[in-house]
Parts: sequence; C-alpha cells; structure tokens
Amino acid sequence: MSEKNKRKKKYVPRKGYTKEQYRRDTMQAYGVLTGIAMALVIVLIYFMFIHKSADKQEKPVDVPQTVTVKKVISGETVSEVTADSDESKSVSETRPTSETQAAVTTTVTQATVETTVTAKKQEAEGHKLEVKNGITYVDGIMIVNKTYSLPADYAPGLDPTAEAAFNEMASQAWSEGISLFICSGFRSYREQDMLFRNYAANRGQEEADRVSSRPGHSEHQSGLCMDVNTTEFDFAGTKEAIWLANNCADYGFIIRFPLGKESVTGYAYEPWHIRYVGKKAAKEIFDKDICLEEYLGVTSDYKNSTDQNG
Ligand SMILES: [Zn+2]
Repeated sequence: MSEKNKRKKKYVPRKGYTKEQYRRDTMQAYGVLTGIAMALVIVLIYFMFIHKSADKQEKPVDVPQTVTVKKVISGETVSEVTADSDESKSVSETRPTSETQAAVTTTVTQATVETTVTAKKQEAEGHKLEVKNGITYVDGIMIVNKTYSLPADYAPGLDPTAEAAFNEMASQAWSEGISLFICSGFRSYREQDMLFRNYAANRGQEEADRVSSRPGHSEHQSGLCMDVNTTEFDFAGTKEAIWLANNCADYGFIIRFPLGKESVTGYAYEPWHIRYVGKKAAKEIFDKDICLEEYLGVTSDYKNSTDQNG
C-alpha cells in the first residue's frame, strides 16, 4: 500500500492532461504490448513447427528414437498403475493416450523425461531402449531388474528357446560327467509376491531386497532364466558351478548376478542363476567379464525403499 502511494505521488501529469486521457493512453500501451507479445508467440510457434518438420525430413531415424524414450516413462507409469489391478485392459487403454500426448508435445515431454530420469541420466545411453506392452527391451534384450519391472499379468511360462538351450547345455554337461537340472524356472508375479513377503517378514526388507526381488521385478517372471541345481550358496565352487560359469555362454546364458557386481546388479552373487540372452550377447558379456546392466548401460535401483512396484 505505501509503495503504491509513493508512486502515485511521484507522478506529475502534464498540463491539460486529464486522468481520463492518462487512463486511455495506458490502455493503448497495454494493447500494443499485448499485440507484440502475441506476434512473438506466433512467430515462435511458426519457427518451431518449421524446424520440427525440417528435422523430420532430414533425419527420420532420430524421431522414433526420441519417441521410444518417452515410451519408457509412460511405460513405467502404466505398469505402476496397473500392477495392483488384475485388469489387463487398462494397459492398452492408458498407454495410447500417454504416447499420443508425448508425440504431440515434444519439447514438454523431453523436459519431463529429463526430470524423471535425472537420477539415471546416462540410462541406456548409446543403446536402443524401447517399451512394448510395459516390457523394456534394450538393444532387443529384455531387461528385468530393480529399475525395470514386468506387468503383473505377464506370465509367458518358461521360454521355449531358453529351455531348448538349457537342455542342449545339460546334455553336453552330462557327457562330461556334470549333472545340471532346472531347480526353478518361470515364476509368476503372484508367486514372487508371496516369496518376497516371506523373505521380508523373516529377514527384513533390506535383506529381502538383496537376495530376492519385489514382485514384477523378478527375472524369473520373464521365463528367460533358471536356477540351476539349487539356490543354496554352497553351490559356489562346486564342479557344476564352475562348469556352468565357464560354458553357459556357449549356449546363450550368462551368470546373471556375478561375484563383485553386487552394486551394479543390485543383487548378491548367485552362481546358480542363469539368464538367457542369446549366444552373441552372452559371449560378449563373458569375454568382457561384465554384467548385463553394464552391457546394456542401465541401472538397477528401486525408485523407493518400500513400494512393491518400485
Ligand atoms: Zn534365480
């Protein structure tokens, strides 16, 4: 109030310049300013549009890539929303809306992506990351870990290709005097939910997160992995474990949670847990002595400390 009064006192009108004229002039000035602002906005929109369509024509490959990054965000959100409900419909209903919105407001979404992914800015950098039906693939390889989850209703059973590869490996092992068998293969969301609750109840959430997975985050739900022979730690160092570690890549498998990579994979060493990734990827991962997260350039972190769908 006092500042307003001061300003009013400072204003000295010219002679014969009425308050009414002053008011009209001010209004006109505002009108002109609004006009200029609107013109600027129109020019801006025009240039943005031209720029965008020019971009599209020059490098058509770049555009879908940006769109797929957006899908990740919408995909994660969708799977979070629908994870608790049993309606599989809501996935296909929610998804197109967010994707369409993403496609329309490129700049806005990019900003959103940046904010959402600040913690994992380098996520899958230099890799092709896409989300199909709530499932994330990096360079065509399905990724399931603490960062990436599967929809609750995803229940493919044990993947036939992975199973055939395992059988081929097991028969070769058998001919060398090594007995390998599947102790645990596909596990449903519901089974994992019960398993994790049990762990958490008996050993506490922190320990449960280290050795088990929250529902939706277990690789066993993908149907692409197996626990071989046992899930007991004394499997480490046995002739079976050593044979498995040295030979599984030849059949397209990797030791998914290797020793010394706990901080990257987010899980304790599991010499029995193998994951099918195909021969090419498996051999490269084996030769470079890296884990899947390092191979695909992704993280494995729950978004929060307790939420089941992290
Ligand atoms: Zn396992």
